Amino acid sequence: MSESPYEIVIGLEVHVQLATQTKLFCRCSTQYGAPPNTQTCPVCLAMPGSLPVMNRTAFQLGMKTACALNLQIPNFTKWDRKNYYYPDLPKGYQISQYDLPMSQDGFLLITDPKQQFEPRKVRIIRAHLEEDAGKSMHDEAAGKADSRIDLNRTGTPLLEIVSEPDMRSPLEAKAYLTELKLILEYLGVSDCNMQEGSLRVDANVNLHLQTPEGKVATPIVEIKNMNSFRAVERAIAYEAQRQYEIWLETKQKIGDVPKQTRGWDDQAQITRGQRHKEESSDYRYFPEPDLAPVTTTDEEIAAVKAQLGELPRQIRDRLEEQYKIPAYDADVIVNQGQTTVNYYETLAKLSGDGKLASNWVQQEVLRVLKERSLEIDAFPISTERLAELVKAVAGKEIDGTRAKDVFAEMLDSGKSASEVMKEMGIEKVDDSELENLCRELLEANPKVLADLKEGTHKAVGALIGQAKKKNPNIDPGTFRQMCIDMSAKM
Ligand SMILES: [Zn+2]
Repeated sequence: MSESPYEIVIGLEVHVQLATQTKLFCRCSTQYGAPPNTQTCPVCLAMPGSLPVMNRTAFQLGMKTACALNLQIPNFTKWDRKNYYYPDLPKGYQISQYDLPMSQDGFLLITDPKQQFEPRKVRIIRAHLEEDAGKSMHDEAAGKADSRIDLNRTGTPLLEIVSEPDMRSPLEAKAYLTELKLILEYLGVSDCNMQEGSLRVDANVNLHLQTPEGKVATPIVEIKNMNSFRAVERAIAYEAQRQYEIWLETKQKIGDVPKQTRGWDDQAQITRGQRHKEESSDYRYFPEPDLAPVTTTDEEIAAVKAQLGELPRQIRDRLEEQYKIPAYDADVIVNQGQTTVNYYETLAKLSGDGKLASNWVQQEVLRVLKERSLEIDAFPISTERLAELVKAVAGKEIDGTRAKDVFAEMLDSGKSASEVMKEMGIEKVDDSELENLCRELLEANPKVLADLKEGTHKAVGALIGQAKKKNPNIDPGTFRQMCIDMSAKM
């Protein structure tokens, strides 16, 4: 355990916008970025007499996510009205799910390939469907201090995923969110675009402290409005320290004060107090009378499970096993998404060297993608062509440094590895040629030879430069080993 005088206890609530074409209870488009109030209809504007109809696709995306998160899906679920007043909520209530959510009691396993924390099973209390509210835009820039409402977002389907307070550090919270986002992306249930609000995070944070009187918990604070995982990590770390200082001062325990809601100010890097959080009794939940409950059969649930496909954790395990790569490599590749996994697997198969293929994807391919702001499907070098180069490296036809030059030329010219290698005069040096060069240089450098005989292997470094001048095609690794072996017999 760390030296910290407290343990941080974290539970996360994640709102995910489901990737449907239309809203949850009407047929308005969910497309992001349209002019304000152009994607509305009587249902999402709450005109009297308009009636909601459930979007089946949204429900199915919810089921898919629930299965991937090991949640139980009951055969019966209903809709409830959550009543509160807010300018961007024209109905005066939000259609959500209260006591009978569409799924509950699941878990998500988080691990860290860098082993900064122990593997942890984060329990998930529930995942339920609800509609989004609109957006209030407070424009004070022009000195007019007016507020405008955009209702394009009202009725957009959200899945709210609520975890138990099972995380113990900002790092674990980030790992949970990263894995969750990855699963949602692999399933294709959400684009998870945080800038556009497709994935929003609230964190419940408090501290456990050991005191002479026993273990004490501080009051829980909910941090809202975090639009990046970095913000989540920082907000939790900030909040933990703030709560500790308040505890030292006031000795306030959980229950002494009402639950507080705070917002993360990314500019100032601090959390700030907001309005008091309503208790669920304040929402006066009651069953939504305009929507029929939803029933699902065991066969339907089994069918969704059967179509899930491989999830990130399973792919990591398989890549490690199938291509003999370390957990860290598998993690990096899988975290890039399905298309990168496909690219890697093809490269590994074609080149016949899983580890080398993994190095090339991680070091070169990902670097170029980042520099050029490209997605992997737009990467200019095909797997067939890169495999040719990787094979040449694996077969010691070319050393790593020169291979990177070939790679750069392939990238710019669009030529194949063999074409570039031919142009650059790169060819495999045969063993007898290498042996001759080695003997020649050892004889010309008696001091190096003496050092090598004494076991000072780093002395050979001086010869590699000379050898490369005589023949740029030599593989330094092979040459080095050959000199060491040969010196022993001289
Ligand atoms: Zn509508």
